[in-house]
Amino acid sequence: MSALTELYKEIRTCHKCDIARNRTQAVPGEGPENAELMFIGEAPGYNEDQQGRPFVGQAGKFLNELLDSISLKREEVYITNIIKTRPPNNRDPLPVEISNCKAWLDRQLEIIHPKIIITLGRYSMARFFPGKTISQIHGTSVEKDGVIYFAMYHPAAALHQQSLRETLKEDMQKVPALLTRLKHENTKTAKSEIKQLHLF
Ligand code: URA
Repeated sequence: MSALTELYKEIRTCHKCDIARNRTQAVPGEGPENAELMFIGEAPGYNEDQQGRPFVGQAGKFLNELLDSISLKREEVYITNIIKTRPPNNRDPLPVEISNCKAWLDRQLEIIHPKIIITLGRYSMARFFPGKTISQIHGTSVEKDGVIYFAMYHPAAALHQQSLRETLKEDMQKVPALLTRLKHENTKTAKSEIKQLHLF
């Protein structure tokens, strides 16, 4: 059994939070174990809870469109959420739920080792860009320990506010350059490793 499949089994049987009692099923995440890009949203909604898959409702439809706009297939990227259970009536996740679920996301990061992490919305931004506000940092990236973190608005925000639709589209257009930057850096590292081999 793959490390991710093993992890999904554990997530699906987790009952640390009260909200687990009312869910149809947990929504661990989906995508390849070797994905370079990881998208992290907030929490499953009604459709995700029904299907056990992340971003399959209206927000997911828009996310698919955004991926399509940079010629990325959904199957190529990893998609998950800060919490893995739908909060009742789609309320915001509580701090205790975020902290209970933190270990699951940590394990996903350890297994997948994404090169680029794209935060979707305030809750995942808060984890990787503490103290920042989304209106200030959306569309910007920081690099830490070889991983690029890039902040975006949540696709669901665009469903209520038309102007954010354009903002999300523009921000997504910056992602291919991040991927190119990674490829260059990998080539540079490989070249310097070859040089070192010749020197010693
Ligand atoms: N919103 C999220 O944050 N995640 C989903 O999976 C769906 C909607």
